[in-house]
This record gives sequence, structure tokens and C-alpha cells, in this order.
Amino acid sequence: MEMYQAARRHFGHQGWWPGDGALEICIGAILTQNTNWKNVEKAIANLKSAGLMSISAIHSTPVEKLAELIRPTGYFNIKARRLKNFIKHAYETAGDDIEAFLDKPLSELRAELLSISGIGRETADSIILYAAGKPTFVVDAYTYRILLRHGLISDDYDYEMIKELLESSLPEDVELFNDFHAQFVAVGKNYCRPKPQCKGCPLEYLPHDIHAGEEF
Ligand code: SF4
Repeated sequence: MEMYQAARRHFGHQGWWPGDGALEICIGAILTQNTNWKNVEKAIANLKSAGLMSISAIHSTPVEKLAELIRPTGYFNIKARRLKNFIKHAYETAGDDIEAFLDKPLSELRAELLSISGIGRETADSIILYAAGKPTFVVDAYTYRILLRHGLISDDYDYEMIKELLESSLPEDVELFNDFHAQFVAVGKNYCRPKPQCKGCPLEYLPHDIHAGEEF
């Protein structure tokens, strides 16, 4: 909580997720891997212009056309297939109703999302937290690097171990999990880069070792 409060004092509330409605958040979570948000915005704008902001519309669109529309995000052929896989699953279980698809117990939803080809843990948890509004902590490379440099994890911690550490150390609070992940991203993008810039970082006053996780 001290880390969160220090980061939030510095950056302010981050107001995530920058998407309009549950389906757009799901699509953004799938497209944002390995690219920046500006590229995702361009891809979402293309989908909207093509009238493809519904489950059924995307479901009936050939994967090649989808790939062309989401080209700005990079890895567009792979991402188009991932998006189609997700949409096919949602369509077959809930038709055109994304809210109905997301409206199930967290563990059930997580298992379902992880069973979809191409949907990894970070994407699944982003959908659960930001689209479904359920308390799961999203772990990413920034989270790993910051916790490692601050001696809160060792380098053999995997995704599930970090998630468990965070969830068991914090009050179960969707709003907190939402903004804390965003704060980790803000710290990681602005200060805790592969070459850390500790001077001026809001977490500088906490014990840290900049030589931990040098390869990340
Ligand atoms: S930049 Fe330095 S002070 Fe900031 S989070 Fe990384 S290791 Fe900690």
C-alpha cells in the first residue's frame, strides 16, 4: 500500500481503462500486447469505422479483413486470430451480449478466458478487472521489474506467484487493483525502465537494488 500511495501521490489517479464499454475494453486488452496504446486506439477507430464494434459483427468478419483493420497494433495476423477466437467463444456462449458473457464467478470466467487459444494470463486478468469489474490483479513486466528491484520477489517468481503475493497483501478492492496496476505501468514507463532512473521516482525512498532484474 505504501508503494501504491507513493506512486499515486506522484502520478495522480490514472483513470483506467481507457476504453469505451466492456467489449471495447476486451478488444483493447487483446490488441495492446507488445504495442503502445496509441496504436490500439487507431485499430479500435478502424473497427468502429467499419461498423465492427459488436460481437456478431466481428464474428461474421473474415480474419483477413480484421487483420487489415488492426494492422496498426503490429503482429496483426496473430492478434486477428486471437480476437476471432475470443469473439467466437463469447458469441457461442452469450450471443451478442458481452455483459452476459462476463457475468459469472471470477474463477469460472478466468478459467474460461484462459481456455481460449491466444488469451494469456495478463490479457485474461485485464478483461476480468477492467471489463468485468472483478478483483483480480493484473501482472505485467513492469510489476515484475519493480517488485524484483524492491526485493519483494525473487527472480524465480512467476505470474501466478506475483498475483498471489499482491492479492494476499492488499485489501480485495477492484478500484485499488485497477489503479495500482496503472500506477505500476506509470512507474515502469517513466522511471523503472531496463536502465532505471531512480532519481525523482516516487518509490526512490523505499529500499531498492537497481542491479536486480537487469535483464528485464
Ligand atoms: S526506478 Fe528505482 S526507485 Fe523507481 S521503482 Fe525502479 S528501482 Fe525503484
